[in-house]
Amino acid sequence: MAIKLYKVAKKVLVGGVNSPVRSFKNIGINPIFIKNAKGSKIYDIDGNEYIDFCMGWGSIILGHANEKVIKNIRNVINNGINFGLTTKSEIELANLIKSAIPSIERIRFTNSGTEAVMSALRLARAFTKKKKIIKFDGCYHGHFDSLLVNAGSGVSDIYNSTSDGVPTNFIKNTISVQFNNIKLLKKVIEKNYRDIACVIVEPIPGNMGLIVPENEFLYEMRKLTEKYDILLIFDEIITGFRLNFGGVQNLLNIKPDLTCLGKIIGGGLPIGAFGGKKEIMKLLAPEGNVYQAGTFSGNPVVMISGLSTLQQLRRKREIYDKMKENILIIKNELKKIKNLYFSNYGSMFTLFFIGKEVKNYDDIKKCDLKRFKRWYKKMLNSGIFLPPSQYETSFISVAHSLNDIEKFIFQTKKNLK
Ligand SMILES: *Cc1c(COP(=O)(O)O)cnc(C)c1O
Repeated sequence: MAIKLYKVAKKVLVGGVNSPVRSFKNIGINPIFIKNAKGSKIYDIDGNEYIDFCMGWGSIILGHANEKVIKNIRNVINNGINFGLTTKSEIELANLIKSAIPSIERIRFTNSGTEAVMSALRLARAFTKKKKIIKFDGCYHGHFDSLLVNAGSGVSDIYNSTSDGVPTNFIKNTISVQFNNIKLLKKVIEKNYRDIACVIVEPIPGNMGLIVPENEFLYEMRKLTEKYDILLIFDEIITGFRLNFGGVQNLLNIKPDLTCLGKIIGGGLPIGAFGGKKEIMKLLAPEGNVYQAGTFSGNPVVMISGLSTLQQLRRKREIYDKMKENILIIKNELKKIKNLYFSNYGSMFTLFFIGKEVKNYDDIKKCDLKRFKRWYKKMLNSGIFLPPSQYETSFISVAHSLNDIEKFIFQTKKNLK
């Protein structure tokens, strides 16, 4: 059935999909088409069952089709699904987030993470009255023009966009720096600080595969940005509520000026949010002159989905430790295997097909992609679904059982042979 559907899909959707990585082009196989999902399992239209280690790209943490979330959504939709006006649930979700992440004094909801980041940058530029931004190679902040940039070779000042259709003009104020390289960051800031509005970072990068920051990297980044009046933006779109009830900033005790959220806070429905200090946020319309808006922003169905998810997470905080333990079980079993590097943090992990620790985007370019692809295909055929790229992070949920974890270990070892 999947092959038939793929043929039809390709005639109407570009590449048969609505987001590139779903095409499985990296792996060189046809996409799978999903029919339904429950808990840790996802089922394709041919009836194949997979243990899901992608979990909606990290947007699902309680497991698929969580009963309370679905029940609450059902109750809400009976009363109308979009008013374009404010409802009580927006205030409730905002307050819950604020209580969990103290650096967020005011918040604005958007419909995607991309929008949240885009608007946070506009705000940072308005607040500082400066125009340049610093990002890190391999970090992803959504698909809008000025952030589709990775550094060229060395410390060259000329960058290329990672996408066609982005005029050089749109990226000339973006500087991309190697992650975990505090010396380089310091150098770039000292040279350009008069022009730099903000540094944006995924504190635990998850979009080049999972990379863990070195001890002092984020602390030094905070010190430097403070010293030079540069705003620090944490893109916690993946990490928000994934590692604890809050953000990485709580775990590490670092206070960014602005934070971007998304994924989990919508409980599986489309969402984004950005927030931070009130003196910065008040520049946003209608209080200030930084324009930002959305027909669907704060949509009542999305809000109840997010609220119902976060309320459950707040009540059951011990689940974060349990998910972490499950990942450590995998790590213990796989860490001895040659030419593999197991990168992990909380409920997130990446199996890098490389024989050494990876610290940045340059390191992971040396991964053995052929070996990854061979393994990936076998895993899929054995009923394990992972994000179809070496450069994505895998996720587990509250619904993953010890049995799921043991199956993953067993199949990984078997399929590496
Ligand atoms: C997913 C993601 C985004 C983009 O969010 P969308 O909702 O896909 O637009 C931005 N930043 C990070 C860190 C992400 O993981």
